[in-house]
Amino acid sequence: MASFDVIVIGAGPGGYVCAIRCAQLGLKVACVEGRETLGGTCLNIGCIPSKALLNATHHLHEAEHNFAKMGLKGKSPSVDWPQMQAYKQDVVDGNTKGIEFLFKKNKVTWLKGWGSIPEAGKVKVGDEVHEAKSIVIATGSEPASLPGVEVDEQTVVTSTGALSLGKIPKSLVVIGAGVIGLEMGSVYARLGTKVTVVEYLDAITPGMDAEVAKAFQKMLVKQGFEFIMGAAVQKVDVAKGKATVTYKLRKDDSEATLEADTVLLATGRKPYTAGLGLEALGVEMLPRGMVKIDDHFQTNVKGIYAIGDAVPGPMLAHKAEDEGMAAAEVLAGKHGHVNYAVIPGVIYTSPEVASVGQTEEQLKEAGRAYKVGKFPFMGNARAKAVFMGEGFVKILADKDTDRVLGCHIIGPAAGDLIHEICVAMEFGASAQDVALTCHAHPTFSEAVREAALACGDGAIHA
Ligand SMILES: Cc1cc2nc3c(=O)[nH]c(=O)nc-3n(C[C@H](O)[C@H](O)[C@H](O)COP(=O)(O)OP(=O)(O)OC[C@H]3O[C@@H](n4cnc5c(N)ncnc54)[C@H](O)[C@@H]3O)c2cc1C
Repeated sequence: MASFDVIVIGAGPGGYVCAIRCAQLGLKVACVEGRETLGGTCLNIGCIPSKALLNATHHLHEAEHNFAKMGLKGKSPSVDWPQMQAYKQDVVDGNTKGIEFLFKKNKVTWLKGWGSIPEAGKVKVGDEVHEAKSIVIATGSEPASLPGVEVDEQTVVTSTGALSLGKIPKSLVVIGAGVIGLEMGSVYARLGTKVTVVEYLDAITPGMDAEVAKAFQKMLVKQGFEFIMGAAVQKVDVAKGKATVTYKLRKDDSEATLEADTVLLATGRKPYTAGLGLEALGVEMLPRGMVKIDDHFQTNVKGIYAIGDAVPGPMLAHKAEDEGMAAAEVLAGKHGHVNYAVIPGVIYTSPEVASVGQTEEQLKEAGRAYKVGKFPFMGNARAKAVFMGEGFVKILADKDTDRVLGCHIIGPAAGDLIHEICVAMEFGASAQDVALTCHAHPTFSEAVREAALACGDGAIHA
């Protein structure tokens, strides 16, 4: 039996970051991972492989639609799907091996196998029981299921199957217009697949600023997406490798069907905490297998902590990482803290969509007096030069104090641009602070400055 200060269960972005930070802070730490490779959902079957496929297909789109306009003539590249899959796997391997290297460098012990907690202070991995002063649950999440839809990861797939389809489908039905469904839908739409999204609600990407969501949906339609909104999927039948999706329209209860080669079930994710033994330990749980924690990431059982997708909050890799770091600080006797008001969200479609802070709808509901500064990418020279003039930056600021309350961007590099506003919000900046900051020309970031200017005396290029 080995003895540690901390044992982290799960080596996703929450768990591996927590383990590395614990080691850096002088704690003796082990991380349990049942998967063959480190990095969790994010590196193996989530953020990283999906971005690799988005990158490859984005270049295909550029070659097909924009190269000739720039005088780059010739045949567009043809798609070698097995090679694209191999590229994706290389990207995954490079990243997961990188975490293995970081574990060695920081002297984090990798306990290989599936872990459970037989009692507080003990973690069982295979036949071995290890001791720990503190245990951190970082076991992440798994795709949520839907009644009537049986996943076989061949014809009816979750995001995991969608990342590794045997061939490019001619038609794809995506159930759920959330981030994962729209990103994977984009990959296949660019590869020539007919993509139809069936969504229960009347708007895509729930929780997003409504103006941005509307513009985003329009752009996706232009890219060939079809949307069936307000439709509740009843069941999916599979026969001879083809799927039939039956849905009911909420407005009149009428039923209809859709045929597809592949169906992607993308109705969200739920915490993966079964099998840890939490019930027997008396760990207080929330609905759907979510672990309840206090402000210091501790459960109601002393010495047992939880972070990442297994606990409340947005299911995002960077949120899990921040909690991992903060929990490590707490375990080392410091003051770990996560500012949940400033967690950006990004959709890596083209154009990208990014947001941080409050939406206009949230401000209205809270009765807060606010002002809006908006700037279209059409007024940004760099965006026009790369055929990305669609979209806009929208900054929401307090009407009286000018303090930045939120920002919503749809346009080129939105996922990078948003961080200027994250920093501004962390520092309690006003829109004027952003507007008075010199921005290099010609960059996409000038659009952020112009939106900040629009909160005051007005943008220059609009
Ligand atoms: C297709 C897809 C795309 C995504 N894209 C993005 C994105 O672009 N940006 C973003 O921020 N987020 C993205 N996400 C979400 C992101 O992957 C998760 O929010 C993040 O991985 C959560 O981190 P975590 O450490 O909490 O858990 P996970 O990454 O799920 O890691 C948990 C790990 O714990 C292991 N484990 C579980 N139980 C045990 C046990 N009992 N013993 C040992 N090991 C165990 C699992 O094998 C797993 O490796 C995406 C998700 C998917 C599915």
